[in-house]
Amino acid sequence: MHSERCDVLIIGGGPAGLAAALELKRLGVTGVTVVEREREIGGLPRLCYNTGFGLRDLHWLHSGPSYALDYRRRVESAQIDVHAATTATEWQGPTTLTLTSPRGLTTIQARTILLATGCRERPRAARLVPGDRPQGIFTTGSLQRFVHQYGQQIGQRAVVAGAELVSLSATMTLINAGTPVAALVTEHASHQFYFPYSLLKWWLADRRGSRLCAPARVSRIDGQRRVEAVEITHLDTGQTETVACDTVVFTGDWIPENEVARMAGLDIDPHTRGPRVDGSLHTSQMGVFAAGNLLRGAETADVAALEGRHAAHGIAAFLAQGKWPQQRIPIHVEGRVAWISPNTLSWDERPPSLRHFLWRVDGFYRTLQLSIVQGERLLYQRSRHYLMPNRTLYLEADWLSQVDPLGEPVRLIAR
Ligand SMILES: Cc1cc2nc3c(=O)[nH]c(=O)nc-3n(C[C@H](O)[C@H](O)[C@H](O)COP(=O)(O)OP(=O)(O)OC[C@H]3O[C@@H](n4cnc5c(N)ncnc54)[C@H](O)[C@@H]3O)c2cc1C
Repeated sequence: MHSERCDVLIIGGGPAGLAAALELKRLGVTGVTVVEREREIGGLPRLCYNTGFGLRDLHWLHSGPSYALDYRRRVESAQIDVHAATTATEWQGPTTLTLTSPRGLTTIQARTILLATGCRERPRAARLVPGDRPQGIFTTGSLQRFVHQYGQQIGQRAVVAGAELVSLSATMTLINAGTPVAALVTEHASHQFYFPYSLLKWWLADRRGSRLCAPARVSRIDGQRRVEAVEITHLDTGQTETVACDTVVFTGDWIPENEVARMAGLDIDPHTRGPRVDGSLHTSQMGVFAAGNLLRGAETADVAALEGRHAAHGIAAFLAQGKWPQQRIPIHVEGRVAWISPNTLSWDERPPSLRHFLWRVDGFYRTLQLSIVQGERLLYQRSRHYLMPNRTLYLEADWLSQVDPLGEPVRLIAR
């Protein structure tokens, strides 16, 4: 086993990890190493062939691969140390990790670690969909890999489980691969495409005769060697129907890639399922930061990249001063709130990345009253209108100055 040392070890070479590495370089921090499981850095965007990447971080509209290439070139020209095809597999100490690669095992002892391991879609098995186990079942990620990386034929007719933004990306990939989409199936009361994506839904789905089944779920998959049909259960009536298709794509329903975070014993938020972080992206363990989609599932790549940059400032401050927040107050969510990120407050609280908290609701609501309270004290109250699940909302941070850093947990309530 080799052993190495570095100042900052970044686990994950996606937009969050690479943007953090570049910002650290800009801030004059040396000794940064990026570790990436795949053979190439760039993260999920490498395989997302749609346009729509980079507006807020690179100020340019890229396709996924060109966005990933842009970051790769910047990292190369900044001469940042990258270990590709290398997976962080085990913790040997609070900031020491074992890496596994074709070269063997390496232990890296770092002064600080940034976890930026992203998120993944829940596959069929995790959604507990019963039935046969034939070929033709994908997630958006595996579909895009099949189509764009391996140039494989997909099928003749598909059903897409999910009706959120990434489901449109899957629909577009299917159409480009010559596979019409019979139906989009969502367990929510309606689809979750808002303007301008609702126009894209019309272009990709409505005008091609794709049905929307809502609220409904794919409740069974049939087929011997290849998918032959899916059973769809309509959740409002309990009725079932069988839709003939040879391809099923499970989209969205993201889960943070939190294995490395869990192995470290970091506090995990039960709602986001990512590590609990404060506004500066400190986790519960001294020396370990977290950023990007690991925090709460999929946001756009520029949000993840800006969080990576934001984390770089916290890391640089920690390396310079050695201070770590001791008092941490959790933000609990109640009522119709699905999650909030960041979800912890600490004494040296900085406004979060983008100067806003991100939060989501669990269903469709015309109006909700949003309140933030600490004990009996009301810190913030405002009405929000026309809310839908799977759409990120922004919460301003101006109430932070009223939080008692030694007080009770803060509660975000939507009713
Ligand atoms: C189909 C699809 C379409 C999308 N379309 C858009 C779009 O149009 N516009 C947009 O802005 N965003 C889009 N996104 C979202 C965007 O891809 C993500 O927001 C972004 O990639 C998140 O960056 P990240 O760095 O947090 O995570 P990721 O990009 O997922 O990067 C995490 C990296 O960590 C690595 N890793 C994980 N565990 C380990 C480990 N143990 N050791 C070493 N490495 C590890 C992974 O291999 C991965 O490369 C899309 C996503 C999908 C799936």
